[in-house]
Amino acid sequence: MKGPSVVIIGSGPSGFYTAESICKKINSDIDIIDRLPTPFGLIRGGVAPDHQTTKKITVTYTKTAKKDQIHFFGNIEIGKDISIEELRKMYDVVILATGSELDNKLEIKGTDLKGIHGSAEFVGWYNGHLDYVNLNPDLNTENVVVIGIGNVAIDIVRVLSKTPEEMAESDIPEYALNTINQSSIKNIYIVGRRGPIEAKFTNVELRELGNLKNCKPIIKTENLPDKIVGNFSDRDKRLIKKNLETLRNFSLIKENNREKKLNFIFFHKPVEIIGNNRVKSIKFEKVKLKDSQLEGTGEIVTIDCGLVITAIGYQPKNISGLEISNGIVKNTNGKIDTGFYAVGWIRRGPTGVIGTNKADGESVTELISKEFNNQTKNGRNSLIKIIKSKNLKVTSFEDWEKIDSYEKKKAKEPAPRKKILSIKEMLNICKI
Ligand code: NAP
Repeated sequence: MKGPSVVIIGSGPSGFYTAESICKKINSDIDIIDRLPTPFGLIRGGVAPDHQTTKKITVTYTKTAKKDQIHFFGNIEIGKDISIEELRKMYDVVILATGSELDNKLEIKGTDLKGIHGSAEFVGWYNGHLDYVNLNPDLNTENVVVIGIGNVAIDIVRVLSKTPEEMAESDIPEYALNTINQSSIKNIYIVGRRGPIEAKFTNVELRELGNLKNCKPIIKTENLPDKIVGNFSDRDKRLIKKNLETLRNFSLIKENNREKKLNFIFFHKPVEIIGNNRVKSIKFEKVKLKDSQLEGTGEIVTIDCGLVITAIGYQPKNISGLEISNGIVKNTNGKIDTGFYAVGWIRRGPTGVIGTNKADGESVTELISKEFNNQTKNGRNSLIKIIKSKNLKVTSFEDWEKIDSYEKKKAKEPAPRKKILSIKEMLNICKI
């Protein structure tokens, strides 16, 4: 007996882990829809281009995609080409795995000036994400301020600091590599409103910043705490200790001939961005922590800069029919409504590592197997009908494999691929 028909919206990690989990437990046909012609979401468009080992997780997702039960439908935008209501009429189970695509905004004066980018768009730009290939950020400035002290901020400062030789094994598009290489960037500031103890970055990512060929991390070690004060688990204490050691060790790096400087600044809360038309500087208020809350000191510090990149978290795009609040879709343990579920960042917010999404998939599989016995709605056949009636140009997983081999063939050694930068070209390769 066939299990309920399932459609998953979004083919990033949470979508694929959910498909894999359902496959193992339920005899359902599972369709995965993505608005891009290519699968893998943040793995392709968000994970840093020089972190190719992380991107290898797509080998696992590919095995899932090739299972008989599963079909990939790329280049369909839910909310534009097909509505959620239509999908819910066609499938027994609809699962949202659309992530958090939009940047959180700094709510201070001056954010409408030119020269300010959120991490979703900036990371998308240097990753060849189809939404951001034309962002054209102006890197013709000596000073760049990156706001936030999480792993995304670390990715950004690293990519801005690496030499073309250090990026040779990455899949950064040529336009981004050249723009960064030809930029006048000398000083990069990574600024946190909290301190090194509260920083969200992880140690492996932080340590990488000590090994950059042409960039020296700068930190005032006298400002680093000797003791870890706060309510932390033993594990967290160990991790914080490692981060503090790494930051301290940065001051021992001798190569002062590195042309770029990466300045770590803690306890600075952004209060205003200054400029006429373009950003010229950013004002911070020095803050301290009192009972885990930020408390202003009234002391203002200004950093001159021509580019500000915020890496302060994400929120989901709204799709008609969803109730989004506090950065997630309204849900109870992944359930939005009967037959309607959410996994990944849209379910729980933009936190955790890639593997964190596995548990979401498993818990939704559990819910589905309790709530549904068999297939009652036509699922895939109805979707194919609607695709035909709306004349949508849809890619399959086999089409993605054509794009994938084309990109690999076009790459210059030792780069793993040369990303295609337009939907039109992708569809041409697939002869769609
Ligand atoms: P994150 O880890 O939540 O860090 C966000 C940073 O922005 C924090 O320092 C936060 O400070 C700061 N912030 C938020 N609002 C702010 C405001 N209004 N003004 C100033 N600062 C503000 O988020 P993320 O870096 O975007 O990463 C998202 C997730 O992806 C994380 O789980 C991360 O570990 C993961 N990721 C992992 C990797 C990797 O493993 N290599 C790479 C990239 C991303 P507060 O702490 O004060 O709120």
